[in-house]
Amino acid sequence: MEKEQYVCLVCGFNMVGFHPDRCPFCGVDKQHFITAEVCSARYKVVATPVNNKVTRLNSRPALGYEHAAYRIETGRGVCWIDCPSCFDPSVDPMETIFFTHHHFLGASNLYRLEFGAGVHLHVGDAADDMCRHFTFDAVFAGSFIHQGIEAFPVDGHTPGFTFYLFEDTLFICDYVFWSDADMKFNPYGPAELTLAGGRRIAEILAGRKLATVCGYNYVVDYDVWQQKFIAGPLSS
Ligand SMILES: [Zn+2]
Ligand SMILES: [Zn+2]
Repeated sequence: MEKEQYVCLVCGFNMVGFHPDRCPFCGVDKQHFITAEVCSARYKVVATPVNNKVTRLNSRPALGYEHAAYRIETGRGVCWIDCPSCFDPSVDPMETIFFTHHHFLGASNLYRLEFGAGVHLHVGDAADDMCRHFTFDAVFAGSFIHQGIEAFPVDGHTPGFTFYLFEDTLFICDYVFWSDADMKFNPYGPAELTLAGGRRIAEILAGRKLATVCGYNYVVDYDVWQQKFIAGPLSS
C-alpha cells in the first residue's frame, strides 16, 4: 500500500494518508484504529448473491458499523454501488464504484489502485471534509445512466445522496432504517430535507415494476419495502 492508512474498528472509516487523534467519522480515540494492512489480514469480503446479476458484499467478520456494498454484473462490466470498509484484493475486479453518498467510502481508494476502478460521487458530497483524502475520478451533478444502472440524486440525507436502479433492483443504502416492525428516515441528516428527498424518491419509483431493495444492512422484497415507505416515513 502506497500511503499510510488506518481503519476505525468502531465505524469502519478509512483514514487515508494521516493518523488523526480521533476518528473523523465517529469521533473515537485512535486506540481503536488498526492499519489497513492489519485490516486486510483480519477481514475478508464475503459475496452473497441477491439475484443472478446483483451480489451483496460485506466485510467478515463485521467491521465497525458494518454496511453492505453491492456488485452489479451489468453484462458490459462489473460495477459496485458503495464499497466495503476492508480491502480484500481477492474480489472480482470492478470497473466503476458509484457512491450513494460519502458515509461509506470504505477502502475505495485501495480498490481504485488495485483494479483501476473509476470512483464516482455526487458533487454535493464531494466537498465534505471526510472526502478530503479520497480520490474521485468523476464528480457528477445530475442523473445519468451507466451500463443500465440509473442514478437519481435526491439530496436529503446528505446533499449529494443518490439512489440507483438496475433492472428490477433498487439500491437505497441508508436513506431509511429498516426493521421488521417499522421504517423511519435516517435521523443523521436534516429532517425536512430528508423528507423532501423521500418524496422525490417516491415520485421516481411510482409506476416502476421492481422486485428487490438493497439497503445498507438488509435486502427485502420491493413490495413490502414500498408499502412501509409510504405508510411510515413518507406519512410522518
Ligand atoms: Zn470511527
Ligand atoms: Zn448515511
